[in-house]
Amino acid sequence: MKVLVLNCGSSSLKFQLIETDEQTAREGTDRTLAKGLVEDTGGTATLHYEAEGRKPLRDAIGAFQHKTAVEKALAVLTDPETGVIPHKDEIGAVGHRVVHGGERFKTSVLIDEGVIDGIEANIALAPLHNPANLQGYRAARAVLPDAPQVAVFDTSFHQTMPPEAYLYALPYDQYQRFGIRRFGFHGTSHRFVSGRAAVLLGRPLDDPGLRLITCHLGNGASVCAIRGGRSVDTSMGFTPLEGLVMGTRCGDLDPAALLYLMGREELGAAEASALMNKRSGLLGLSGLSHDMRTLLEAEEKGNDRARLAIDVFCYRLRKYIASYVGALGGVDALVFAGGIGENSPPVRERSLHGLDALGLTADPARNEAARGTEAEISPDGARSRVFVIPTDEELLIARDSFRIVSGLSGL
Ligand code: ADP
Repeated sequence: MKVLVLNCGSSSLKFQLIETDEQTAREGTDRTLAKGLVEDTGGTATLHYEAEGRKPLRDAIGAFQHKTAVEKALAVLTDPETGVIPHKDEIGAVGHRVVHGGERFKTSVLIDEGVIDGIEANIALAPLHNPANLQGYRAARAVLPDAPQVAVFDTSFHQTMPPEAYLYALPYDQYQRFGIRRFGFHGTSHRFVSGRAAVLLGRPLDDPGLRLITCHLGNGASVCAIRGGRSVDTSMGFTPLEGLVMGTRCGDLDPAALLYLMGREELGAAEASALMNKRSGLLGLSGLSHDMRTLLEAEEKGNDRARLAIDVFCYRLRKYIASYVGALGGVDALVFAGGIGENSPPVRERSLHGLDALGLTADPARNEAARGTEAEISPDGARSRVFVIPTDEELLIARDSFRIVSGLSGL
Protein backbone atom coordinates (compact mmCIF):
# COMPACT_ATOMS: atom_id res chain seq x y z
CA MET A 1 0.00 0.00 0.00
CA LYS A 2 1.18 3.54 -0.73
CA VAL A 3 0.82 5.70 2.37
CA LEU A 4 1.16 9.48 2.37
CA VAL A 5 2.71 10.53 5.69
CA LEU A 6 2.10 14.13 6.77
CA ASN A 7 3.83 16.05 9.54
CA CYS A 8 2.29 19.50 9.78
CA GLY A 9 3.51 22.55 11.66
CA SER A 10 1.69 25.88 11.79
CA SER A 11 3.60 27.11 8.72
CA SER A 12 5.12 23.96 7.27
CA LEU A 13 4.09 20.62 5.88
CA LYS A 14 6.44 17.67 5.53
CA PHE A 15 5.25 14.84 3.32
CA GLN A 16 6.58 11.43 2.42
CA LEU A 17 5.12 8.76 0.18
CA ILE A 18 6.00 5.29 1.48
CA GLU A 19 5.22 1.89 0.03
CA THR A 20 4.68 -0.66 2.78
CA ASP A 21 2.89 -3.94 3.49
CA GLU A 22 3.13 -6.72 6.07
CA GLN A 23 6.05 -8.45 4.43
CA THR A 24 8.14 -5.33 3.74
CA ALA A 25 7.48 -4.12 7.29
CA ARG A 26 8.69 -7.46 8.68
CA GLU A 27 11.77 -7.50 6.45
CA GLY A 28 12.45 -3.76 6.76
CA THR A 29 12.31 -3.35 2.99
CA ASP A 30 9.53 -0.71 2.82
CA ARG A 31 10.43 2.06 0.35
CA THR A 32 10.24 5.82 0.44
CA LEU A 33 9.12 6.75 -3.07
CA ALA A 34 9.27 10.52 -2.60
CA LYS A 35 9.47 13.18 0.06
CA GLY A 36 9.16 16.89 0.36
CA LEU A 37 8.65 19.94 2.50
CA VAL A 38 6.46 22.99 1.93
CA GLU A 39 7.41 25.80 4.29
CA ASP A 40 6.61 29.43 4.77
CA THR A 41 9.67 31.43 3.85
CA GLY A 42 8.40 34.89 4.83
CA GLY A 43 5.06 35.45 3.13
CA THR A 44 5.56 32.92 0.34
CA ALA A 45 5.91 29.17 0.61
CA THR A 46 8.70 27.12 -0.92
CA LEU A 47 8.50 23.49 -1.93
CA HIS A 48 11.53 21.21 -1.67
CA TYR A 49 10.96 17.82 -3.23
CA GLU A 50 12.93 14.71 -4.11
CA ALA A 51 11.84 11.38 -5.56
CA GLU A 52 13.38 8.09 -6.62
CA GLY A 53 15.07 8.55 -9.99
CA ARG A 54 13.99 12.22 -10.35
CA LYS A 55 15.86 15.49 -10.20
CA PRO A 56 15.32 17.33 -6.86
CA LEU A 57 12.86 20.19 -7.23
CA ARG A 58 12.53 23.60 -5.56
CA ASP A 59 9.56 25.81 -6.30
CA ALA A 60 7.86 28.94 -4.90
CA ILE A 61 4.10 28.54 -4.48
CA GLY A 62 2.53 31.70 -3.02
CA ALA A 63 1.26 32.15 0.53
CA PHE A 64 1.41 29.11 2.83
CA GLN A 65 -1.84 27.30 3.50
CA HIS A 66 -2.18 23.68 4.51
CA LYS A 67 -4.69 22.94 1.74
CA THR A 68 -2.59 24.46 -1.05
CA ALA A 69 0.47 22.69 0.37
CA VAL A 70 -1.27 19.28 0.18
CA GLU A 71 -2.52 20.11 -3.33
CA LYS A 72 1.01 21.03 -4.39
CA ALA A 73 2.42 17.85 -2.85
CA LEU A 74 -0.10 15.74 -4.78
CA ALA A 75 0.57 17.68 -7.98
CA VAL A 76 4.32 16.90 -7.88
CA LEU A 77 3.72 13.31 -6.79
CA THR A 78 1.46 12.67 -9.81
CA ASP A 79 3.16 14.89 -12.41
CA PRO A 80 4.61 12.84 -15.33
CA GLU A 81 7.96 14.70 -15.03
CA THR A 82 8.43 14.67 -11.26
CA GLY A 83 5.95 12.13 -9.97
CA VAL A 84 6.09 8.55 -8.74
CA ILE A 85 2.38 7.65 -9.05
CA PRO A 86 0.05 8.17 -12.02
CA HIS A 87 -2.96 9.30 -9.96
CA LYS A 88 -3.73 10.41 -6.40
CA ASP A 89 -6.18 7.49 -6.03
CA GLU A 90 -3.11 5.25 -5.74
CA ILE A 91 -2.71 6.54 -2.19
CA GLY A 92 -4.27 3.93 0.12
CA ALA A 93 -4.03 5.85 3.38
CA VAL A 94 -2.82 9.11 4.89
CA GLY A 95 -0.88 8.91 8.17
CA HIS A 96 -0.64 12.01 10.35
CA ARG A 97 1.87 12.74 13.04
CA VAL A 98 -0.14 14.17 15.94
CA VAL A 99 1.85 15.54 18.85
CA HIS A 100 -0.50 15.18 21.82
CA GLY A 101 -2.95 12.36 22.43
CA GLY A 102 -3.25 13.03 26.18
CA GLU A 103 -4.46 10.10 28.28
CA ARG A 104 -7.11 9.13 25.77
CA PHE A 105 -5.06 7.83 22.85
CA LYS A 106 -2.96 4.82 23.80
CA THR A 107 -2.38 3.59 20.23
CA SER A 108 -2.62 4.96 16.69
CA VAL A 109 -6.23 5.32 15.46
CA LEU A 110 -8.33 5.77 12.35
CA ILE A 111 -9.49 9.38 12.39
CA ASP A 112 -13.25 9.95 12.76
CA GLU A 113 -15.32 12.74 14.32
CA GLY A 114 -14.74 11.35 17.83
CA VAL A 115 -10.98 11.29 17.29
CA ILE A 116 -11.04 14.87 16.03
CA ASP A 117 -12.88 15.90 19.21
CA GLY A 118 -10.22 14.07 21.23
CA ILE A 119 -7.36 15.84 19.44
CA GLU A 120 -9.16 19.17 19.92
CA ALA A 121 -9.61 18.42 23.61
CA ASN A 122 -5.83 18.18 23.92
CA ILE A 123 -5.11 21.54 22.26
CA ALA A 124 -4.54 23.11 25.70
CA LEU A 125 -1.68 20.62 26.22
CA ALA A 126 -0.05 21.29 22.82
CA PRO A 127 -1.29 24.71 21.67
CA LEU A 128 1.26 25.06 18.87
CA HIS A 129 1.11 21.53 17.50
CA ASN A 130 -2.33 19.93 17.73
CA PRO A 131 -4.14 22.75 15.81
CA ALA A 132 -1.57 22.49 13.00
CA ASN A 133 -1.93 18.69 12.96
CA LEU A 134 -5.70 19.10 12.62
CA GLN A 135 -5.29 21.65 9.82
CA GLY A 136 -3.17 19.09 8.00
CA TYR A 137 -5.86 16.46 8.50
CA ARG A 138 -8.62 18.74 7.19
CA ALA A 139 -6.53 19.72 4.17
CA ALA A 140 -5.79 16.08 3.34
CA ARG A 141 -9.45 15.09 3.74
CA ALA A 142 -10.50 17.89 1.36
CA VAL A 143 -7.99 16.87 -1.30
CA LEU A 144 -8.15 13.07 -0.77
CA PRO A 145 -11.75 12.51 0.38
CA ASP A 146 -11.67 8.73 -0.20
CA ALA A 147 -8.40 7.90 1.56
CA PRO A 148 -8.70 6.69 5.18
CA GLN A 149 -6.68 8.86 7.55
CA VAL A 150 -4.79 7.68 10.61
CA ALA A 151 -3.42 9.61 13.61
CA VAL A 152 -0.13 8.47 15.13
CA PHE A 153 0.61 10.25 18.42
CA ASP A 154 3.99 11.26 19.89
CA THR A 155 2.62 10.52 23.34
CA SER A 156 0.76 7.22 22.95
CA PHE A 157 3.79 4.92 23.33
CA HIS A 158 4.37 6.30 26.84
CA GLN A 159 0.82 5.65 28.02
CA THR A 160 2.09 2.37 29.45
CA MET A 161 4.16 4.22 32.09
CA PRO A 162 3.08 3.27 35.60
CA PRO A 163 1.79 5.96 38.00
CA GLU A 164 5.06 6.06 39.93
CA ALA A 165 6.76 7.17 36.71
CA TYR A 166 4.14 9.57 35.38
CA LEU A 167 3.04 11.33 38.58
CA TYR A 168 4.69 14.48 39.90
CA ALA A 169 4.76 14.77 43.68
CA LEU A 170 2.33 17.69 43.62
CA PRO A 171 -0.97 17.50 45.54
CA TYR A 172 -2.85 14.64 43.87
CA ASP A 173 -5.85 16.81 43.08
CA GLN A 174 -3.71 18.82 40.61
CA TYR A 175 -3.50 15.63 38.56
CA GLN A 176 -7.21 14.90 38.97
CA ARG A 177 -8.40 18.44 38.22
CA PHE A 178 -5.93 19.59 35.58
CA GLY A 179 -4.26 16.41 34.31
CA ILE A 180 -0.82 17.58 35.45
CA ARG A 181 1.33 14.50 34.88
CA ARG A 182 4.21 13.32 32.74
CA PHE A 183 3.22 12.30 29.19
CA GLY A 184 6.51 11.89 27.34
CA PHE A 185 7.09 12.57 23.64
CA HIS A 186 9.16 11.19 20.72
CA GLY A 187 7.19 7.95 21.24
CA THR A 188 7.24 7.05 17.55
CA SER A 189 11.03 7.26 17.46
CA HIS A 190 11.55 5.29 20.68
CA ARG A 191 9.15 2.64 19.42
CA PHE A 192 10.84 2.39 16.02
CA VAL A 193 14.39 2.01 17.34
CA SER A 194 13.34 -0.38 20.12
CA GLY A 195 11.79 -2.62 17.44
CA ARG A 196 15.05 -2.58 15.48
CA ALA A 197 17.09 -3.26 18.64
CA ALA A 198 15.00 -6.36 19.36
CA VAL A 199 15.65 -7.59 15.80
CA LEU A 200 19.40 -6.98 16.21
CA LEU A 201 19.37 -8.84 19.52
CA GLY A 202 17.39 -11.70 17.95
CA ARG A 203 14.73 -11.49 20.68
CA PRO A 204 11.00 -10.80 20.48
CA LEU A 205 10.29 -7.18 21.43
CA ASP A 206 7.46 -8.27 23.73
CA ASP A 207 9.70 -10.64 25.70
CA PRO A 208 8.90 -9.39 29.24
CA GLY A 209 12.55 -9.86 30.20
CA LEU A 210 13.86 -7.57 27.43
CA ARG A 211 15.17 -4.29 28.89
CA LEU A 212 16.10 -1.47 26.52
CA ILE A 213 17.14 2.15 26.95
CA THR A 214 16.70 4.33 23.87
CA CYS A 215 18.21 7.81 23.49
CA HIS A 216 16.67 10.09 20.86
CA LEU A 217 19.14 12.96 20.56
CA GLY A 218 18.11 15.60 18.02
CA ASN A 219 17.30 19.27 18.54
CA GLY A 220 14.78 17.91 21.01
CA ALA A 221 16.12 15.01 23.06
CA SER A 222 14.71 12.32 25.31
CA VAL A 223 15.57 8.95 26.84
CA CYS A 224 13.16 6.07 27.30
CA ALA A 225 13.24 2.94 29.48
CA ILE A 226 11.44 0.06 27.75
CA ARG A 227 10.54 -3.34 29.17
CA GLY A 228 9.00 -5.98 26.92
CA GLY A 229 8.36 -3.37 24.22
CA ARG A 230 6.46 -1.07 26.61
CA SER A 231 7.65 2.35 27.76
CA VAL A 232 8.05 2.33 31.55
CA ASP A 233 9.69 5.74 31.92
CA THR A 234 10.85 8.61 29.76
CA SER A 235 12.65 11.88 30.37
CA MET A 236 10.17 14.35 28.82
CA GLY A 237 7.21 15.19 30.99
CA PHE A 238 4.06 17.30 30.95
CA THR A 239 5.68 19.12 28.03
CA PRO A 240 8.75 18.37 25.88
CA LEU A 241 10.79 20.69 28.14
CA GLU A 242 11.65 18.25 30.91
CA GLY A 243 14.67 15.97 31.00
CA LEU A 244 17.80 16.22 28.89
CA VAL A 245 19.65 19.35 27.81
CA MET A 246 18.43 20.15 24.27
CA GLY A 247 19.32 22.57 21.46
CA THR A 248 17.49 25.52 23.01
CA ARG A 249 15.59 23.89 25.94
CA CYS A 250 16.98 23.66 29.45
CA GLY A 251 15.55 20.26 30.41
CA ASP A 252 15.41 19.54 34.16
CA LEU A 253 15.42 22.66 36.31
CA ASP A 254 14.52 23.47 39.90
CA PRO A 255 11.13 25.19 39.47
CA ALA A 256 12.05 27.49 42.35
CA ALA A 257 14.96 28.84 40.28
CA LEU A 258 12.48 29.92 37.64
CA LEU A 259 10.22 31.59 40.20
CA TYR A 260 13.26 33.44 41.55
CA LEU A 261 14.27 34.57 38.04
CA MET A 262 10.75 35.69 37.21
CA GLY A 263 10.90 37.93 40.28
CA ARG A 264 14.40 39.27 39.67
CA GLU A 265 13.95 39.91 35.96
CA GLU A 266 10.23 40.76 36.15
CA LEU A 267 9.40 38.11 33.59
CA GLY A 268 5.84 37.20 32.65
CA ALA A 269 4.79 33.62 31.88
CA ALA A 270 5.41 34.00 28.13
CA GLU A 271 8.89 35.44 28.67
CA ALA A 272 9.76 32.74 31.20
CA SER A 273 8.60 30.10 28.74
CA ALA A 274 10.71 31.61 25.95
CA LEU A 275 13.73 31.71 28.28
CA MET A 276 13.47 27.98 29.02
CA ASN A 277 12.37 26.80 25.56
CA LYS A 278 14.21 29.07 23.14
CA ARG A 279 17.21 30.64 24.88
CA SER A 280 18.53 27.82 27.06
CA GLY A 281 20.07 24.39 26.46
CA LEU A 282 23.18 24.15 24.28
CA LEU A 283 22.54 27.65 22.92
CA GLY A 284 22.11 29.24 26.33
CA LEU A 285 25.12 27.56 27.90
CA SER A 286 27.50 28.10 24.98
CA GLY A 287 26.26 31.54 23.93
CA LEU A 288 27.24 30.32 20.46
CA SER A 289 24.84 27.84 18.86
CA HIS A 290 22.08 25.31 19.47
CA ASP A 291 23.74 22.98 16.98
CA MET A 292 25.90 20.16 18.37
CA ARG A 293 28.08 19.91 15.28
CA THR A 294 28.95 23.63 15.46
CA LEU A 295 29.76 23.27 19.16
CA LEU A 296 31.99 20.24 18.61
CA GLU A 297 33.92 22.19 15.96
CA ALA A 298 34.22 25.21 18.26
CA GLU A 299 35.41 23.00 21.12
CA GLU A 300 38.15 21.61 18.85
CA LYS A 301 39.34 25.19 18.33
CA GLY A 302 39.50 25.76 22.08
CA ASN A 303 36.13 27.38 22.81
CA ASP A 304 35.59 26.73 26.54
CA ARG A 305 31.89 27.60 26.62
CA ALA A 306 31.24 25.16 23.79
CA ARG A 307 33.06 22.48 25.80
CA LEU A 308 31.03 23.34 28.89
CA ALA A 309 27.72 23.07 27.01
CA ILE A 310 28.68 19.67 25.58
CA ASP A 311 29.86 18.50 29.01
CA VAL A 312 26.52 19.43 30.64
CA PHE A 313 24.63 17.74 27.79
CA CYS A 314 26.61 14.48 28.09
CA TYR A 315 26.61 14.43 31.90
CA ARG A 316 22.81 14.87 32.08
CA LEU A 317 22.36 12.07 29.56
CA ARG A 318 24.75 9.81 31.47
CA LYS A 319 22.75 10.35 34.69
CA TYR A 320 19.49 9.48 32.92
CA ILE A 321 20.94 6.32 31.38
CA ALA A 322 22.25 5.19 34.77
CA SER A 323 18.93 5.92 36.48
CA TYR A 324 17.05 3.93 33.84
CA VAL A 325 19.34 0.94 34.38
CA GLY A 326 18.06 1.20 37.94
CA ALA A 327 14.43 1.60 36.83
CA LEU A 328 14.70 -1.52 34.65
CA GLY A 329 16.85 -3.55 37.06
CA GLY A 330 19.55 -3.92 34.38
CA VAL A 331 19.77 -3.31 30.65
CA ASP A 332 20.17 -5.61 27.66
CA ALA A 333 20.80 -2.89 25.08
CA LEU A 334 21.22 0.86 24.82
CA VAL A 335 20.36 2.66 21.57
CA PHE A 336 21.59 6.01 20.25
CA ALA A 337 19.34 7.70 17.65
CA GLY A 338 18.53 11.18 16.30
CA GLY A 339 20.92 13.56 14.53
CA ILE A 340 23.38 13.69 17.44
CA GLY A 341 23.00 10.06 18.54
CA GLU A 342 23.46 8.73 15.02
CA ASN A 343 26.35 10.97 13.98
CA SER A 344 28.47 11.97 16.94
CA PRO A 345 31.05 9.47 18.29
CA PRO A 346 32.41 11.96 20.87
CA VAL A 347 28.97 12.62 22.39
CA ARG A 348 28.30 8.88 22.61
CA GLU A 349 31.70 8.25 24.15
CA ARG A 350 31.36 11.05 26.71
CA SER A 351 27.79 10.02 27.65
CA LEU A 352 28.91 6.45 28.32
CA HIS A 353 31.87 7.59 30.42
CA GLY A 354 31.89 5.70 33.72
CA LEU A 355 28.95 3.49 32.81
CA ASP A 356 31.18 0.43 32.27
CA ALA A 357 30.39 -0.34 35.93
CA LEU A 358 26.82 -0.97 34.70
CA GLY A 359 27.96 -3.09 31.77
CA LEU A 360 27.70 -0.27 29.21
CA THR A 361 30.74 0.58 27.16
CA ALA A 362 31.71 1.44 23.59
CA ASP A 363 34.52 -0.01 21.53
CA PRO A 364 36.48 3.11 20.38
CA ALA A 365 37.01 1.95 16.78
CA ARG A 366 33.40 0.78 16.34
CA ASN A 367 32.10 3.98 17.89
CA GLU A 368 34.26 6.13 15.62
CA ALA A 369 33.15 4.23 12.52
CA ALA A 370 29.39 4.44 13.24
CA ARG A 371 28.08 7.56 11.52
CA GLY A 372 24.53 7.67 10.26
CA THR A 373 24.23 3.92 9.79
CA GLU A 374 22.96 1.04 11.90
CA ALA A 375 25.84 -0.45 13.87
CA GLU A 376 26.78 -2.14 17.11
CA ILE A 377 29.37 -0.11 18.99
CA SER A 378 29.81 -2.27 22.10
CA PRO A 379 32.80 -4.64 22.17
CA ASP A 380 32.35 -8.36 21.53
CA GLY A 381 31.14 -10.16 24.64
CA ALA A 382 29.86 -7.00 26.37
CA ARG A 383 27.32 -7.58 29.18
CA SER A 384 24.97 -5.00 27.61
CA ARG A 385 25.00 -4.21 23.92
CA VAL A 386 25.15 -0.65 22.56
CA PHE A 387 23.71 0.19 19.14
CA VAL A 388 23.47 3.16 16.83
CA ILE A 389 20.12 2.93 15.03
CA PRO A 390 18.95 5.62 12.59
CA THR A 391 15.38 6.45 13.53
CA ASP A 392 12.55 6.58 11.00
CA GLU A 393 9.36 8.00 12.46
CA GLU A 394 7.70 8.38 9.06
CA LEU A 395 8.17 4.70 8.33
CA LEU A 396 6.46 3.72 11.58
CA ILE A 397 3.58 6.12 10.82
CA ALA A 398 3.22 4.49 7.38
CA ARG A 399 3.26 0.98 8.88
CA ASP A 400 0.70 1.87 11.57
CA SER A 401 -1.53 3.45 8.92
CA PHE A 402 -1.29 0.40 6.68
CA ARG A 403 -2.09 -1.99 9.53
CA ILE A 404 -5.05 0.01 10.80
CA VAL A 405 -6.53 0.52 7.35
CA SER A 406 -6.04 -3.18 6.55
CA GLY A 407 -7.72 -4.22 9.80
CA LEU A 408 -4.59 -5.94 11.10
CA SER A 409 -3.97 -6.02 14.84
CA GLY A 410 -0.80 -6.03 16.93
CA LEU A 411 0.22 -2.37 16.89
P1 ADP B 1 15.46 17.33 14.79
O1 ADP B 1 15.28 17.02 16.24
O2 ADP B 1 15.17 18.77 14.46
O3 ADP B 1 14.84 16.33 13.84
P2 ADP B 1 17.98 16.07 14.14
O4 ADP B 1 17.56 14.74 14.64
O5 ADP B 1 18.30 16.22 12.69
O6 ADP B 1 17.03 17.24 14.57
O7 ADP B 1 19.31 16.47 14.97
C1 ADP B 1 19.89 17.73 14.83
C2 ADP B 1 21.16 17.74 15.69
O8 ADP B 1 22.04 16.70 15.21
C3 ADP B 1 21.91 19.04 15.63
O9 ADP B 1 22.37 19.42 16.93
C4 ADP B 1 23.11 18.69 14.74
O10 ADP B 1 24.24 19.47 14.99
C5 ADP B 1 23.34 17.27 15.17
N1 ADP B 1 24.21 16.57 14.22
C6 ADP B 1 23.99 16.25 12.94
N2 ADP B 1 25.10 15.68 12.38
C7 ADP B 1 26.06 15.69 13.35
C8 ADP B 1 27.42 15.27 13.42
N3 ADP B 1 28.04 14.75 12.37
N4 ADP B 1 28.06 15.44 14.60
C9 ADP B 1 27.46 15.97 15.65
N5 ADP B 1 26.18 16.40 15.66
C10 ADP B 1 25.49 16.26 14.53
